[in-house]
Amino acid sequence: MTFSIADKLNNVRARIQKTTIGANRPPDSVQLLAVSKKHSAQSVYDAVQNGQTLFGENYLNEALAKQEALQAIGSEQAYKQVDWHFIGPIQSNKTRQIAENFAWVHTLERSKIVQRLNDQRPSNLAPLNCCIQINIDQEETKSGILLAELDSLAKEVAEAPNLSLRGLMCIPEPGQDAAVIRASFQRMSAAFDQLKQTYPSVDTLSMGMSADMDIAIECGSTLVRVGTAIFGERT
Ligand SMILES: *Cc1c(COP(=O)(O)O)cnc(C)c1O
Repeated sequence: MTFSIADKLNNVRARIQKTTIGANRPPDSVQLLAVSKKHSAQSVYDAVQNGQTLFGENYLNEALAKQEALQAIGSEQAYKQVDWHFIGPIQSNKTRQIAENFAWVHTLERSKIVQRLNDQRPSNLAPLNCCIQINIDQEETKSGILLAELDSLAKEVAEAPNLSLRGLMCIPEPGQDAAVIRASFQRMSAAFDQLKQTYPSVDTLSMGMSADMDIAIECGSTLVRVGTAIFGERT
């Protein structure tokens, strides 16, 4: 039996709703970011037709081609409602196109990138919404900063006029037990609560993917980034 993108999207929405309510949180407190990397513009369009408005992409060239292809498929109206989130590593030679073509970045981790995105954000667009990526399990090769480095980077983002500091993002170490993942998400949640007290613009805790979204929601995630459970396996 094969499920359509509409079916899978509805399943994911129901699952988010159920877990959110089960965790005694308000029903609409968790947003769904559909991660469309390695999936076609047609798949994105199918999701848009089913009311999905937030999409995440990891690779700039793929994302720009898809944004253009989507405009050719969809009505201008449908396209206007879509918010693109950049969730891949940000190379400094790609900042201009990211600043020009995305509403959000989730993967800020360096001062130099903060400055470039701020300088390159077009003045006719709203400030670029930014989450700082935390390397929550202190992995040797993982992107993101340590929590000990958060205060200074958060201050830089908050002071950048063309950026808006919205929150934190993490990807926990793969292959860990649920209890270990939960502990990592709880550390994120505590850091998020603290950051919110300093910066009123902070409202987004980006954590949880297809495999761990329920634990993430139980730990206070406000946005889950889901690819496989909506679009199927990537090739
Ligand atoms: C690919 C990706 C996701 C989605 O992962 P799934 O397991 O397919 O849900 C979420 N976040 C980031 C940063 C990703 O690169």
